[in-house]
Parts: sequence; structure tokens; C-alpha cells
Amino acid sequence: MKRPGFGLSTFSGVFVVWTLFSVLIVFSYPLEGDQEAHELRFVEEFDRLKLGFSWHNMSCAVCKAIFATVDIALLSDSNKERVAHVLGDACVRLHLADPDVCREITELFREDFIRALQESFLWPTEACALLVGPACGHFDIYAPWNVSLPQVPKPPIKPHTPPKPGSPQSRILFLTDIHWDAEYAQGSLVDCKKPLCCRNDSGRASWKHSGAGYWGTYGKCDLPLRTVENLLQTVAKSGPWDWVYWTGDIPAHNVWSQSRKQQLNELTVITRLILKHLGPNVTVYPSVGNHESTPVNSFPPPFVHGNRSSRWLYDTMAKEWASWLPEEALETLRLGGFYTVEIQRGLRLVSLNMNFCARENYWLMVNSTDPADQLQWLIHILQESENKGEKVHIIGHIPPGLCLSSWSWNYYHIVNRYESTITGQFFGHTHVDEFQMFYDEETMTRPLSVAFIAPSVTTYVNLNPGYRVYYVDGNYPGSSRMVLDHETFILNLTLANKRHSKPYPSPSWTLLYRASEAYGLSTLFPADMDGLIKIMVNDDRVFQRFWYLFHKGHVSKPCTDTCKTSLICLLHSGRYDVLMQCDVLHGDKHSFRKTMC
Ligand SMILES: [Zn+2]
Ligand SMILES: [Zn+2]
Repeated sequence: MKRPGFGLSTFSGVFVVWTLFSVLIVFSYPLEGDQEAHELRFVEEFDRLKLGFSWHNMSCAVCKAIFATVDIALLSDSNKERVAHVLGDACVRLHLADPDVCREITELFREDFIRALQESFLWPTEACALLVGPACGHFDIYAPWNVSLPQVPKPPIKPHTPPKPGSPQSRILFLTDIHWDAEYAQGSLVDCKKPLCCRNDSGRASWKHSGAGYWGTYGKCDLPLRTVENLLQTVAKSGPWDWVYWTGDIPAHNVWSQSRKQQLNELTVITRLILKHLGPNVTVYPSVGNHESTPVNSFPPPFVHGNRSSRWLYDTMAKEWASWLPEEALETLRLGGFYTVEIQRGLRLVSLNMNFCARENYWLMVNSTDPADQLQWLIHILQESENKGEKVHIIGHIPPGLCLSSWSWNYYHIVNRYESTITGQFFGHTHVDEFQMFYDEETMTRPLSVAFIAPSVTTYVNLNPGYRVYYVDGNYPGSSRMVLDHETFILNLTLANKRHSKPYPSPSWTLLYRASEAYGLSTLFPADMDGLIKIMVNDDRVFQRFWYLFHKGHVSKPCTDTCKTSLICLLHSGRYDVLMQCDVLHGDKHSFRKTMC
């Protein structure tokens, strides 16, 4: 994620910008006649303007006229070729990425992206709303919509009380964002020009620089398989685990050169490796990350059928995960990449496909209203659980505060309604160690839920490899099933990669911190986490400790002033509009839209 002062350049964010570019690039000029000259002039113009171009310079009427023309033009296949050509050219000239990356990514994206453009109801009113402003129409992807809640009144709220001393606890292993790079190469260039380095094609490091390390590297690099396998050997020995949550992002960040075949191979290899090391008696509950698909972030909702649908992915997931999930769960997984399952009597899991909330998923241009009816389905599950007196944990990849505004608003509303049923929310995707608070909608002051965001297994970018362990109120009658504590383990790369005589000995994964000890908390209930934020505001030492742990003990930059206020603001934001206020507050309106995770 790109945040003010947290400074990482983003790659998939390019596509959000690109969406806008392509709309304008392609459609600002007629697609017949003096094509080459027009393309060139436009790109040069854009070069000059850089990102300072204001869409608002275009009038509403002109915008609609352009889009009406384009609508017709895109019906022709030869125009599709031109679109791809112009996009590739613009990518190079605007220095959006390295030329090779631009060419490959254009190839990869053109079919899906242009198809989504063609199918979207974007033209011309909605597109102009997006480009010119809301007075010119409305854009579906940002249009508000509402789920409907059952008429059943919300049960009275009981305050959270810590379990009696000695009560059983469940110990849950949490893995997220593994990002295995099959082409990771020790000794290769760490600081290459592509979005992902430390690979065979990154070039060799010169004598002046140390190249990619044996176990991983601080830089724009993902992990070699040996590190993933070493992690799994380590956690296999540090059990027993009651169960495992695994929230996605298996492949590496080489998003410009991925194929379906490779993605499925990576899914299969890692799934089988987890199964091999943890054994058949530990159940793993996975969820779908934004990197599982190719093109990255491309998750067509179920209204897309045939070869462009996500069947290729969900069918393989259902096959590979069949030993962990019951048939009913596999059924919804095949349809939409989400499922529910009873973990133990009194505790249910819901695994959400958060790609249906993501602004980077361009299929949502076609229709962003509760894709796959997932939230309506969630309400149905939660109501059934409430009726049975069952508690529910929710896992997913992208944290809800980063979702499209309306999705995020509805989700927040659901968490409010079912606050006594949802007793844990667990996400990943940002690669850093943080959390997002949920408050009561009326006053936005009473903390009622926490979305825990665990740090990544991968180093991307500049981090130590790591994993999380949650301690949850255990399996006994009347258990709250709330999160009581968590631990974060890391592989200190500086130590692990120190010159050894070959072969490298197995490195040690060490406890970075235990939340209760680091912050002096007895439980991690919503009120505790809200209290922690207040302490961070007043005590900079606590905030600086949080900042160090946020990066899994490998901090690149200090965080003071705006960085600090933004981050504290972010922790309050389980809902996108609240999060946007942090942005507006600090004058960096688009920073949260860019995501590299
Ligand atoms: Zn992700
Ligand atoms: Zn990731």
C-alpha cells in the first residue's frame, strides 16, 4: 500500500491510473484516419503535463461526445488492436514501467481489460462522471447501493469480559502473502528497474553490491521456495495448531509475465507443501488473494461465463483444498471464491472473496453492486448463526477499509448489526502489521470490532519474512471466541544471510513480539485496541514501537508528524470513507487507492 510518508512505489496502482489514462488516451481522438499522429500528439501532450493533468478541464458535453464515439469504435476488433498499441506506447512514454514490462503487460491485459471496458455500462455518462465530476453523471463502480438486513431486531449488547483464568484457548496459525518467486536467484540484482527483482532476469549484482541473499532480500523481492519450506518446517515443529487461517497471495509480484498455468502450479505446489508439513490432522482455511488470478486483480463476478470467468482458478482451488473443506463449502468456492464452514461447535468461519470489493478489479466497472451477492449471503449466514447462538470469524485478503466505498459501507453496517456474533476479523494484503477499528455507526465512538491485519510471509518490500499466531478464547460452552493475544515471528534476514560455509544452516525464526507484552494489554478486545491508539497518540515511545513492529522489525524510514497522524487515522478506519478523510486531512487524496500488495 502506498501511504503518505510510507513511500513505496506501487505497481498495480499503475492500473488504476491506467484505467483513467486508457479511457482518455483511447478516446480523446477519433479512431479512424490520421491515427498515428493523433496517438503521438496525445502522448507527447501527456508527457508534458505529467500527472498534473486535470480531467476537469474537459467539459461535460465534450466528454460525453467522445465516449459515445468510442462506444461504437470499440465494437471493432481492429480498433482493439489500436487500443492495445496506444496503451503500450503510453506506458513506455509516460515511464509507467520498464519498456519490457510495458510490452508484456499490455499483451497480458488487453483481452480482459478491453472486454471489461466493452461490457461496462460506463459509456458515456458514467465515464464522464468519473472524469469530469458527479454533476456529469454517476459512475457505477462508485455508485452507492444497499444490502437488506432482516427485520429481526439487534440483540442487546453484552460487554466483553475476559475469560476466567485457566480457560482453554485456541492457538491459530495465520499465514498470509507468501508470494513465492519460482525465479528467485541468489546473487542477482536487488535494485533492478522492474517491479520485482532478485530474479534470473534482473541481472547479476556487481562487485560493489551484494546480490540477492540465500534466504531472501530486503528490497523489491519475493521469496525463494526454500524459505517458504523452511517456514513450514518451523511451524510444523512449533504446533500443535488448533487450525490455520491462510489469506492468500501465493504467486510472486511478476504481474507482467504470469500465465494461468503458472498461477495454478504455484497454488498447487504451495497447497501441497502446507499439507505435507502440517499433516492431514490440521485443517487449513484459505481465502483468495488478489494475486491468485492473472491478470492480477482480475476477478470477474459470476455474471461472466466461459473462458474469461474465474472457473479455471476456483475449480483448481476446490480440487486442491478438498481435504480441508466440506463439499458445501467447495460448492460456493467454485461459484464465487467464498465459503462458510463450522470450525467447531459454536464457531463458524466465513472466508470472503475480497476481490469483489477491490477498486483494482476492473470487472467491477461492469457492475459493482454486491458482486456475486456475497454480502447478502454473509447476512444470511450471520443471521443463522445469531439464531443458533454461534460465533463467527471472518477471514479475507484485502482489509475492508481499503474496499470500494459502498462495499465498505455495507460491510461496516453488517459488522455493526452483528457485533455480538462476529468475534474475529482477520486479513492480510498490506504486508505490514496493523489493524482497522470498527465503531458504532451512530456516534463513531464506541469500539465494537477489530479487523486484525497480519504481516506477510514475503519480504516485499524491504521487510523480514514473518508469520502470525492468534490466541483465541477456546472451545468450551459460553466461550466468547474473541482474540485474546497474538504473536509475530520473523526470520531476521541480516542474521540468516550472514556468510556461512556452505551449505547454509537452517535459520531460526524468532518471536518478534507478543502483543499483550509489547503494549501492556490483558486482552485484544475492541476497547483494548482503541485504548492502544489513544496511548500511541500521547506516548511517542509506544507509537515508535508500533512503527518498528509494523515493519516486522526492519524499518526503512522514521515516522513522525504527518506520517504518524495519517497512520493513527488509518487505524481508526474500518470503513473507506473514514479512511479517505485521513487522506484529505493530509492532502494526499489518492494515496490509498494505490496498492501493490
Ligand atoms: Zn494482496
Ligand atoms: Zn500480497
